[in-house]
Amino acid sequence: MPLSHGRSYLAIPGPSVMPDRVLQAMHRAAPNIYAGEVVDMMPGLIDGLRSVARTQHNVAIYIANGHGTWEAALSNTLSPGGKVLSLCTGRFGHGWHEMATGLGIVPVIEEFGMQAPVNPERIEELLRADTTHDLKAVLLTHVDTSTSIRNDVMAARAAMNAAGHPALLMVDCIASMGCDRFEMDAWGVDVAVAASQKGLMVPPGVGFVFFNDKAAAVQANLSRVSRYWDWAPRANPDLFYQYFGGTAPTHHLYGLRESLAMIAEEGGIEAVWARHAHLAQAIWAAFDIWAADGPLQMNVADPALRSTAVTSLHVGAPYGTALRDWTEQKMGVTLGIGLGMSTPDDPKGDGFFRLGHMGHVNAPMVMGALSAIQSGLIALGIPHGDGALPAAAKVIAEA
Ligand SMILES: *Cc1c(COP(=O)(O)O)cnc(C)c1O
Repeated sequence: MPLSHGRSYLAIPGPSVMPDRVLQAMHRAAPNIYAGEVVDMMPGLIDGLRSVARTQHNVAIYIANGHGTWEAALSNTLSPGGKVLSLCTGRFGHGWHEMATGLGIVPVIEEFGMQAPVNPERIEELLRADTTHDLKAVLLTHVDTSTSIRNDVMAARAAMNAAGHPALLMVDCIASMGCDRFEMDAWGVDVAVAASQKGLMVPPGVGFVFFNDKAAAVQANLSRVSRYWDWAPRANPDLFYQYFGGTAPTHHLYGLRESLAMIAEEGGIEAVWARHAHLAQAIWAAFDIWAADGPLQMNVADPALRSTAVTSLHVGAPYGTALRDWTEQKMGVTLGIGLGMSTPDDPKGDGFFRLGHMGHVNAPMVMGALSAIQSGLIALGIPHGDGALPAAAKVIAEA
């Protein structure tokens, strides 16, 4: 008998749960786009976005998903034939690399596997070898949402500095912004991209490209920049429509204003990071116990290398798909699919699943998702250790 009637819970790593407050803020008549509230709210939104990204620099907003911000960042920094170094720790590094290829950019791929972060020594070595400075940018995924690896952005910057290489450091923060600590300016990031539907708790449809003055200077020297992606008028508009290269995403702006207000009310981005970190500890405590006796394993063994926004798990085919189907149908909890994890003996990635814990999540939601997994493990006869839920509850009790 399904016990899923009631509110469903999408516990995948994006789109994430949308707060009722955000939805209610969006539920309104079409506003005037030439004067009034929507126009007046822009400086506040820009300030709020800067504080979430920890930057004093520029932000350009696009009516786009994360893929759009990938293209925007590349279109403002590279020309066809230019070279970038793509550092890959899962599916999303490849995604950005494919975007670069489509623009005629020549990406040099460096693989670090699916279970380890980028290696700063290797980055330094690759950059030192580029004595002619052909590499114009280093593309790094902060949190790779497929593997749940969190890369050390500061260490990557230190490696670039040690090599004395002038390439831009461009970081994909689509999964991490508003979840895992990210300090654009302090960490020496030149370009950072993010999107609305993950830690920022707004429906998919708006993307953000943050860029510093070094990146702006690179853009100013390009022979041409696509008019639509050009970040300069978006970051410094003379007229309101230039923020968006056309009609504003009116309702998303109301949603974003509300989500930024929620972040501020919680105590600012530090408090939001701390909540994610504590909830992740509870989640990992449960997974550790289940893993102690049975096939379930977290993809990243070392907690220090894991994102606090998403956890990727291996449970062996066909259990990953079976568990996702069971929790969705019986309990109304949708877990994430394994992404880019298929192997020759598991061609469809049926042995993997992911739990998203980004954005609008709290302790009862986390305990609810964990108990859905617990019930699924029992119902499907998947061997597992005992006592996972009390272990998570204990971590939560220590908050
Ligand atoms: C979700 C995600 C993307 C892609 O974003 P879309 O909005 O689906 O285009 C890119 N990179 C990372 C790290 C992501 O988590």
